[in-house]
Amino acid sequence: MASTFHVEHFGCRAARADGEAVSERLRAAGHCVRQPSVADVVIVNTCSVTAEADRAARAFIRRAHRLNPEARIVVTGCYAQRAPEELAGLTGVAAVVGNSHKALAPEIVFQLLRDREGEALKGHGFSRAEEAPTADAALAAEGMQHHPQVLVSVESVLAGKALSPIWADDRFAHSFIEAAQVMPGAQTRPNLKIQEGCENRCTFCVIPSTRGPSKSLPHAVVLRQVEGFVAAGGNELVLSGINLGRWGRDFSDSEGAPPRTLAGLARKIFERTPLPRLRLSSIEPMDWDAELIGLMEEFGGTRLARHAHLPLQSGSDAVLRRMHRRYRPWHYAKKVVALLRACGPELTLGADVMVGFPGESDAEFEETMALVQALPFGYLHLFPFSPRPGTPGWTLHAERPVPAEVVGERMAVLRALAVEKSLAHRARFIGRELEAITLHTPAEMEARGRTATLTENFLPVELQGRQEANRLLWLRVSGVNAEGTLEATAVENSLQTLCSA
Ligand code: SF4
Repeated sequence: MASTFHVEHFGCRAARADGEAVSERLRAAGHCVRQPSVADVVIVNTCSVTAEADRAARAFIRRAHRLNPEARIVVTGCYAQRAPEELAGLTGVAAVVGNSHKALAPEIVFQLLRDREGEALKGHGFSRAEEAPTADAALAAEGMQHHPQVLVSVESVLAGKALSPIWADDRFAHSFIEAAQVMPGAQTRPNLKIQEGCENRCTFCVIPSTRGPSKSLPHAVVLRQVEGFVAAGGNELVLSGINLGRWGRDFSDSEGAPPRTLAGLARKIFERTPLPRLRLSSIEPMDWDAELIGLMEEFGGTRLARHAHLPLQSGSDAVLRRMHRRYRPWHYAKKVVALLRACGPELTLGADVMVGFPGESDAEFEETMALVQALPFGYLHLFPFSPRPGTPGWTLHAERPVPAEVVGERMAVLRALAVEKSLAHRARFIGRELEAITLHTPAEMEARGRTATLTENFLPVELQGRQEANRLLWLRVSGVNAEGTLEATAVENSLQTLCSA
């Protein structure tokens, strides 16, 4: 009897890659994906970058339990690492698995599915024949020993609540989750997470304490992954990490030959595999060094996507200093200019910007507006500052909070500028031919006879006509619709040409 599961993702691409790896292993073991309202196990892959992210995860857990009280809910990810007790106390949660033990998440889910299946079989007078690996067996295989920590709080005992086991400690295991083969499937362009953790100490961020120091996936494993992905028909792969630009910096001399930089790794991928397109996810501004920018110049627009996401956070020198960010606004602008020289105007530039960091004055916010105005951003991810307990930002917020209404006003102004810049960037491509990959098309778009695509330089485009996902093709951009999405027609014969290339 096949059991069913659902994975709900919150957070960054790196966190999503963890969730996809768990999902892939469960699918490979014969379990099927279902909606949370009917699934046997619901895995909530949390983020804890802001208090809002925590709230969203708790709300989802409550909703999932209300819709499907029988489901075993497994909570994993950064929130599970940062505050496991908080989550273990929520009704419906069957297990909490922090990032330190995330490699065990599939085994813990197998165990829960087996228990559930066993109950169903017992009800029919059967016993179960085959055994999947248990979490303890997986731990032993990893050379680790661990027993789930069961935390008892006075409140939960008084309330007569069942306690859920917690798998989390302050070690940061980095193992077979990342080694699970990425496949073109539910995600046409999956993430391959090749780096974990961060050694920076940005004052607003909890990641260094939830994910530990930087750790890289060895290059031989990365190459195997890419080869497996291409052999399974994959066309576009996204390299991701918590601090991707630090890939390889943790390798010692005893850990084999180079490459030990992200650019060197990408070069090896191009030499050793026929992967048609590689995309790099977010990279910190100062990690865009001459070698990486040189790689963009050499391969950008062919096998490497002309797309660069450099988190900005603020355009004010003083705010960046309070954030403990390692660059100044002029460093950021210099990196952007170098990238534009390397890739040309086809480059799509993206950034994260945080609004309302403690003490952000009107003048400091205006500096951010001016820098955003000056640079050719194709999109911006905007976040209001949200204080995280245990970070220096929490104390700074207690001392110099920016009033919520001021944050709201600044968000609105910046959002309007972001929309304007995004439209201006997209409009440059009307009448141009661009290379793109077809995606899984939402039902509503499919009903209109269209296909969702993403161009090599990261522009979402609605293509006339229906195509299945994961095809590379050239399209001719004909215009932009009322929602600001580009529209296009396929360039005749481009599908065959690219596919046979
Ligand atoms: S670079 Fe800063 S914001 Fe990014 S993960 Fe590291 S500490 Fe957090």
